[in-house]
Amino acid sequence: MAGMKIIDVETILVRQPTACPMKEYPISDGFRDCLIVKVHTDEGITGIGEVQTSPTVARAVIEAPFSLIASVGLKELILGENPFDTEALWQKMYSKTSIFGRRGVAIHAISGIDIALWDIKGKALGQPIYRLLGSSSPKPVKAYASTLMPDDPHKAACEALRWVKDGFQAVKLGWGGFTDNIRKNAALIKEVRKVLGPDITIMADAGMGWGLPTALEMARRCEEYELYFLEEPLPSDDLEGYAVLCDAVDLRIATGEKETTKWGFRDLIVRGRLDILQPDAARCGGITETIKIATLCSAFNRVCIPHNWSTDILASATLNIITALSDVPYFEFNVLDTPIRNGVTRQTIKLDNGFVRVPEGPGLGIELNEEFIAQYAV
Ligand code: MG
Repeated sequence: MAGMKIIDVETILVRQPTACPMKEYPISDGFRDCLIVKVHTDEGITGIGEVQTSPTVARAVIEAPFSLIASVGLKELILGENPFDTEALWQKMYSKTSIFGRRGVAIHAISGIDIALWDIKGKALGQPIYRLLGSSSPKPVKAYASTLMPDDPHKAACEALRWVKDGFQAVKLGWGGFTDNIRKNAALIKEVRKVLGPDITIMADAGMGWGLPTALEMARRCEEYELYFLEEPLPSDDLEGYAVLCDAVDLRIATGEKETTKWGFRDLIVRGRLDILQPDAARCGGITETIKIATLCSAFNRVCIPHNWSTDILASATLNIITALSDVPYFEFNVLDTPIRNGVTRQTIKLDNGFVRVPEGPGLGIELNEEFIAQYAV
């Protein structure tokens, strides 16, 4: 493996042709399509990764030819390199895309390649990634059910209760039924708390839907219903708004699923004063950068709970990261049932009495379902 070389980078865009089967409320991201990245080596080992963004745009970032010294497609940058050099290759991909990159889709695309490089390392060494990151034995990770908020209090309570009956001790409802109507939003949360009782953890995700006055009032209402956190009540770039909100309320405020790199997360912590940071390993810079972001959170006494709203490629990367760290309290379990969500991998992460375990195989510990992918690849 000392002389192992990357010989090809393959991108596979998978798109399901049908609308989501859950018709009663609008579907959010992570279901219609995804970009799978395969990094092939001269020793016959192939690593897999996933990019969570617009797949067509990310594919262009990977396949673009040399334009300027700091404007190079990712594939050209890593061909011939040793996949074990995850740190050096991250820095190379970051600096050589700095004209069109530094944030956004270039970092999303780097994330998919970085995950695939870690998968190669694990496979070559015959070890799961979490062992390479610093943990000898996996412990069960507490999971929260992550689902969409219906637009009616009774339906909201039924949706939450459904997942509690499945064994979850924590449920997050978001997007969908939340509007800028404070009274209706509060009624949704009130009914969920009433039906679940005092012992189940509840989170809410506003999906960037509110301005500061509504966010302040909603956060105060959420305090009353003892929510564990309120996610994305404000637009991603309103760091001054987040600072005002976080200083004004006791409720934990969470964001970060659209943020990239340790610098972006430093700003969320220092300028935005956020309590809970949610890096997405398939967007923020891969496994390499998520570990750094988690360390940054630790140093600032903030809580890191990675965002995980896609296939079990990302779920496995996320679980390997959480397993290697000692202070991540929850795994976000995407409970929606769609072909893309459940079809691209042979193994799926299963809930066991409210907890999940990282896959035990080498690398990510999962394999692609090549028949499914061939059927849905575009
Ligand atoms: Mg969210």
